Amino acid sequence: MESRNPATNEQIGTYEKDTDEDVEAALSRSMDAFEEWRERPIREREELLANAAGVLRENKRRYAELMTKEMGKPISQAIGEVEKCAWACDHYAEYASAYLGGEHHPSPPGTEVATVHDPLGPVLAVMPWNFPFWQVIRFAAPYLTAGNVGLLKHASNVPGCALALEEVFREAGYPDGVFQTLLIGSGKVDDVLSDDRVRAATLTGSGPAGRAVAETAGKHLKKTVLELGGSDPFIVLDDADLDAAVETGVQARTQNGGQSCIAAKRFIVHEAVYDEYVERLVEAFEALTIGDPMDEATDIGPQADPELMAELHDQVQQSVDAGATVLTGGEPLDHEGAYYPPTVLTDVPAGCPADNEETFGPVAAVYKVADEAQAIEKANDTRFGLGASLWTEDRKRGQRLARDIEAGCIYINEMVKSDPRVPFGGIKDAGYGRELSEAGIKEFVNRKTVWTQ
Ligand code: NAP
Repeated sequence: MESRNPATNEQIGTYEKDTDEDVEAALSRSMDAFEEWRERPIREREELLANAAGVLRENKRRYAELMTKEMGKPISQAIGEVEKCAWACDHYAEYASAYLGGEHHPSPPGTEVATVHDPLGPVLAVMPWNFPFWQVIRFAAPYLTAGNVGLLKHASNVPGCALALEEVFREAGYPDGVFQTLLIGSGKVDDVLSDDRVRAATLTGSGPAGRAVAETAGKHLKKTVLELGGSDPFIVLDDADLDAAVETGVQARTQNGGQSCIAAKRFIVHEAVYDEYVERLVEAFEALTIGDPMDEATDIGPQADPELMAELHDQVQQSVDAGATVLTGGEPLDHEGAYYPPTVLTDVPAGCPADNEETFGPVAAVYKVADEAQAIEKANDTRFGLGASLWTEDRKRGQRLARDIEAGCIYINEMVKSDPRVPFGGIKDAGYGRELSEAGIKEFVNRKTVWTQ
């Protein structure tokens, strides 16, 4: 496996893939570790997680630089990502035992009925490169603290991050085998998932990868959580605070170089404010600083991979051929590295790639709608259903419309974002299951009913 810096196209590291024997040894260690780990009092597991938060904070700069070098995320955002990981660890270190405390139920006289939460065992996590630390901590913090053990198969372009995450748990004092990285390609996932010792799987990534993992897991009756792609609407109504809707809209579309599942991808704007909104969005996109991701002042670094950028550009070109208008951007920058400019498309015809596919880069498709009903219809006119953002100064109106939007989460007057305290996940082709909060930690436990007569 190799790491390549997308800002310079330089190879920055090579790593030996794990052999079949290495994987077998990891699975065996994983089972051994689980036998001991599941018996530990949850308080001890919480203390170790608090240590992991400390390790993340102590090494914040080093881990952030590693992410920036491997996948081009601007350094200020990479630092923010490590801080957020530490926050998620703090959160579950504080709340895991409360979330997993036994539930008592109304029961017949003379009996006591309760639900206790037992861990399942080794959980395979197949993860993407776009938030290389956050996606992993998002599964590991709750699931390990619930008493499961983790096997990470990270995206092939971020092997350095994958190994650094193993280091976080080792340095925090976790027993050998509780969290392990497997340096394997996607072709090996089926074998690992089919192994009897692996009890469940979580995948964050694209639809095809999610379907492949779900199919194998289904064959072996293993529980899965799938966090897949999105084409989130960002709805600006006639009574929106336009200053805030422009500022947050720009951030929601361009953070992480636009490579975020919950990025705002389709801007649906009421005709009463459309002209002003579009003019200001274009102005704000053009004011962003594109360049060296190691520079603290950079807003947008390179796309993570030249091939992915070529795919994004192809989506833009096909959309233009179908009738879309480019208001800004639209061509890769003439610059070493995979740099794509923030791009605004209008007149986007239904069915073109910018309309009905996920655009994984800084490309905003903007639509004009005449009223609320059209806004909701356009918002739901997608096979995805991850998040949605809705802008109105009338909170009741926002809450009423939120009920009609087909998505796993709706943020009114805020961008869609993940937060350890709040359930996160999608519907339709965005996947199923929830991560984070109490809902997340309960995805991979046996909710065992104990009836005492
Ligand atoms: P990806 O190509 O699907 O890869 C994700 C992971 O799945 C990688 O580890 C990849 O391994 C593995 N994989 C790919 N094909 C597989 C297969 N057939 N069987 C088993 N594993 C397979 O996605 P990506 O390009 O890394 O990430 C971008 C996608 O992730 C976008 O669609 C984005 O929306 C989605 N995403 C969703 C969320 C969410 O929370 N809903 C968050 C972030 C990203 P290799 O690298 O070895 O191919």
